[in-house]
Amino acid sequence: MKNIIFIAPPAAGKGTLSEIIKEKYNIPHISTGDLLRSVVLKEDENSKKIKAILESGQLVTDEIVLDLLRTRICAEDCQNGYILDGFPRNIHQAEEYNKLLTSLGKNLGVVILLEVDENLAKERIVGRVSCPKCGAVYNTYFEQMRPKKAGICDRCMEKLISRSDDNAETFAQRWDTYLKSTAPLIQYYEDMGVLYRINSTDINIAVEEIEKILK
Ligand code: AMP
Repeated sequence: MKNIIFIAPPAAGKGTLSEIIKEKYNIPHISTGDLLRSVVLKEDENSKKIKAILESGQLVTDEIVLDLLRTRICAEDCQNGYILDGFPRNIHQAEEYNKLLTSLGKNLGVVILLEVDENLAKERIVGRVSCPKCGAVYNTYFEQMRPKKAGICDRCMEKLISRSDDNAETFAQRWDTYLKSTAPLIQYYEDMGVLYRINSTDINIAVEEIEKILK
């Protein structure tokens, strides 16, 4: 199985698509955002700094992210491939990741760029809520993604919460950060001949496109 990297602006659906692909191909989904959010839960001095960066919509230092990632991809469950969601976020991370792969004898795999309209992405972000217990994700903006009872998880009846960086102000900063830091990766991976582009407005169509790429 090939390793997969998703490059995408905020709320292009990389989390949702990663979960679907994870189930279909039985490979782990590694979200650097999730890795960082789990560090934040520890509530020490370091985690307070990371929390503040996450809430500002800017990027955490490359060193912190690379350290977390190195440990994660060396785990046993990553030996047959994995999905990277949210990494690399800039050219320096991509270069360091290439070195890391070489030192571990692993292949880069494929890079999939998810394209989505900015307004749709904003609606997805601002309406996103999730269950703190089971992780189920809902969206109050889209009828088919609303919970049956407002604010309550369908599966475990827990009260739904929204991420502290899922608001209109942080969205604008995250979109800007994407354009400045992450979008240059498109050319970088195109030059390496590993980039595929798909439109992720409709998640079901996007899944079909990804399956074709992985064949
Ligand atoms: P995400 O869940 O991918 O939307 O990421 C949420 C936030 O985590 C981002 O806005 C960044 O502050 C931080 N983050 C996630 N991945 C990275 C990364 N590869 N490098 C730096 N910061 C990251």
